Amino acid sequence: MRDSPKDIFKAMGVRMTPQRLEILRILEKCNEHPAAEDVYEKIRERFPSISFDTVYRTLSLFESHGLIKKVHHLAEKTRYDTNMRHHHHFVCVRCKKIIDFTWEGIDKIPAPEKVKEWGKVEDRYVELRGICQDCLKKTGV
Ligand SMILES: [Zn+2]
Ligand SMILES: [Zn+2]
Repeated sequence: MRDSPKDIFKAMGVRMTPQRLEILRILEKCNEHPAAEDVYEKIRERFPSISFDTVYRTLSLFESHGLIKKVHHLAEKTRYDTNMRHHHHFVCVRCKKIIDFTWEGIDKIPAPEKVKEWGKVEDRYVELRGICQDCLKKTGV
């Protein structure tokens, strides 16, 4: 997200409302992978009367324009990724923290021959699951 908010909303062809702008700001500041619930909680500090539905619809709008990406993983909640560069995830199975990382080795390995029968690969994504350092420290494992 390098463009100014004005350009972003212009490119999407939607009105830049104060609420939408604030959601965009929250996402830009957040380098975690926030759930809609997290964004909702933060935006209520400034817009106490905003509905969860509005937040959710705005996130879907941003997603459909490629501003953010949905993350699919173990957590019950849908989480959003604000990092649109190619990367992989380390997911902590305890606290559900998601850590971004790049892995050139994996990106370079040719896919199995069989894959061609299924179709053309356009992207590859690896999810490592484990226990993060913080959780390891807490339990002393
Ligand atoms: Zn953890
Ligand atoms: Zn990510």
